[in-house]
Amino acid sequence: MKKTYNFSAGPAVLPRKVLEVVQHELLNYKGSGMSVMELSHRSSLYQDIHNETKHLLKSLLNLNDDFEILFIQGGASLQFTMIPLNFAKDKIGDYIDGGTWGKRAIEEANIINPKHTVCLASGESSNYTKIPATPEIPNDGAYLHITTNNTIEGTTLYELPQTNLPLIADMSSNILSVDYDYNQFDLIDAGAQKNLGPAGVCVVAVKKQLLQTINHTLPSMLDYRVYKDNDSLFNTPPTFSIYMLREVLKWVKDLGGVKAMEKRAKQKANLLYDTLDQSKLFDTPVKGKDRSLNNIPFYTQSDALNKLKLAGHRSVGGMRASIYNAMPLEGVKALCDFINTFEKEHLHAQD
Ligand code: PMP
Repeated sequence: MKKTYNFSAGPAVLPRKVLEVVQHELLNYKGSGMSVMELSHRSSLYQDIHNETKHLLKSLLNLNDDFEILFIQGGASLQFTMIPLNFAKDKIGDYIDGGTWGKRAIEEANIINPKHTVCLASGESSNYTKIPATPEIPNDGAYLHITTNNTIEGTTLYELPQTNLPLIADMSSNILSVDYDYNQFDLIDAGAQKNLGPAGVCVVAVKKQLLQTINHTLPSMLDYRVYKDNDSLFNTPPTFSIYMLREVLKWVKDLGGVKAMEKRAKQKANLLYDTLDQSKLFDTPVKGKDRSLNNIPFYTQSDALNKLKLAGHRSVGGMRASIYNAMPLEGVKALCDFINTFEKEHLHAQD
């Protein structure tokens, strides 16, 4: 079979081993005579998947018992709405705008709470090529919202802001790749389709204490308490996505957990950054300590060349390689070889 390395930003590469397990189990899950997709979400076979997935996630992130794991549909984008709706009723929602998705979070919060949404710092003036300096954070807000990895611009917030406010993080593109102290957060959300599994489920880890601050009535499907009180089974959850999430988490565990993932991510990212830094044809917009381990944008001076391969996000142009946990080292080596060969072929065409 033709070997393809998938550098897409999401839906993204999945571990080959996981796909093989899923293929093997597809027609007959654990002797049920059915595919996992056909199982009732109330069946004990599915219930085991649900529970094990929550358990694995909690243990891989080393989360203490104050955390609840919720499975929500609507992607990370719905979290931009649910967060202000649940937590910022009469208080200010504070935001740090580190990139396109942070900005989107603010735009959505502004729809819910036009008078109660504040952007404390933005990286826009540097074209989001650096993480903005941590601003002074007021003590009286409802929460501070950050994006730990800016998927489009390729920057990462490695040092978390110190604040007394509940810390809420969109970790869609680097959950399980960076060994944060995950207990420092009060709510973490991540769309699965980058580092966790296929699209269809958004993982939310939230402290019970934060949920206790909600005291107003909300539509059921937008109310975190409904997900918690019903173990994310108030309605039909995306069972197949959750099953695949469990398989990816087992794979992460077998490879040594988050510390091992971070080590692998550094090795792969360093290889690609070194290749790009040595290149005379390619350049990277992000320099220094804020560079992402997972999303690496780069460009040449020629728009035509930029469009030839690995086109970047349509909003920023250039090229981008996303190298999430499931990307093997060989894939990054193949990309570096390709970059070097491409440079030899095209460098003088530029002169
Ligand atoms: N946040 C970040 C950091 C993202 O990268 C993305 C998707 N690329 C989103 C939010 C939106 O996610 P979804 O498509 O799951 O709504």
